[in-house]
Amino acid sequence: MPVPAIAVHAGAGRKPRDPESSKAVSEVVSAALDAGMRAARTGSALDMVVEAVKVLEDSGILNAGTGSTVDLTGSVSMDAGVAYSKLGRAGAVAFVKYPKNPIVLARYVLENTDHVLVVGEAADRLAERLGLPKHPGVAERVRKMYEEAKQKILAGEIPQKFYSKSQQLWLKLFGLGDTVGAVAVDSEHEVAAATSTGGVFLKMPGRVGDSPIYGAGLYATSCGAASATGIGEYIIMFSLSLRVVDRMCGGGDPAVVSEEVMKEFTARFGADTAGMIVIDRDGRAHGAYNTQSMPWGYASKDVIKIFGL
Ligand code: ASP
Repeated sequence: MPVPAIAVHAGAGRKPRDPESSKAVSEVVSAALDAGMRAARTGSALDMVVEAVKVLEDSGILNAGTGSTVDLTGSVSMDAGVAYSKLGRAGAVAFVKYPKNPIVLARYVLENTDHVLVVGEAADRLAERLGLPKHPGVAERVRKMYEEAKQKILAGEIPQKFYSKSQQLWLKLFGLGDTVGAVAVDSEHEVAAATSTGGVFLKMPGRVGDSPIYGAGLYATSCGAASATGIGEYIIMFSLSLRVVDRMCGGGDPAVVSEEVMKEFTARFGADTAGMIVIDRDGRAHGAYNTQSMPWGYASKDVIKIFGL
């Protein structure tokens, strides 16, 4: 397969309710692939995944950056992580509220600190000090969804208590997911992964999912990279991204091993729980999921393909 190449996803979940929403998601996915391939002209796999995820975060229609979902109290908190094989490093932020693009702050942690994960208020102050653009606040679409959910909780139709099983129910009812991610390989055959999210809808305040956790929501090492999406608690317990890339390192074909690992995940946690995209150092990419849909796309020189809608 040709390199550079990139794959992006827009979250594992339910199919969009209407054709317009499907079209909007597919347009955002192709815009992100375009941004990633443009970055490849002069940049690295790290530039490719960050530029692609910025587009997804800025779309407002996905659960990351501007369009992030809310917790039980109705406020936004976001998690993001990025990893790059050439530096052999990861950088991540969790429970941040300030930046419009948490992925940019995660990249800063990767490139400019000795740490892997910086969280909460301190991370927000760092974003502010760096002059990063500020998050615009809860999106109208999300605010409406929150109000609707509150009514259902008050009517006793939905349990309020947070636990992973209720997330599966939410996923079915509201088609949630919409977390975003990218994996890429550059012309030096170095790979990178990036994942960004507003977390799961109606999470407990302070909850952090898999997206910023190296080995869970993302992983990149010399043989390949992965970005995961779905119920974060399960993904962390399974070390999903680490597992799939490890098998690619053992010589497995990305499509075969990602489907295999997804099957094992489903056997343990049930259907409607997760998805992932993977890429290897030769540019072979695949998206595997056990939900109704997971919009994802792949691009390399002169090729752009959208799947999973
Ligand atoms: N994995 C994300 C989290 O648990 C949510 C998602 O992918 O939809 O925070």
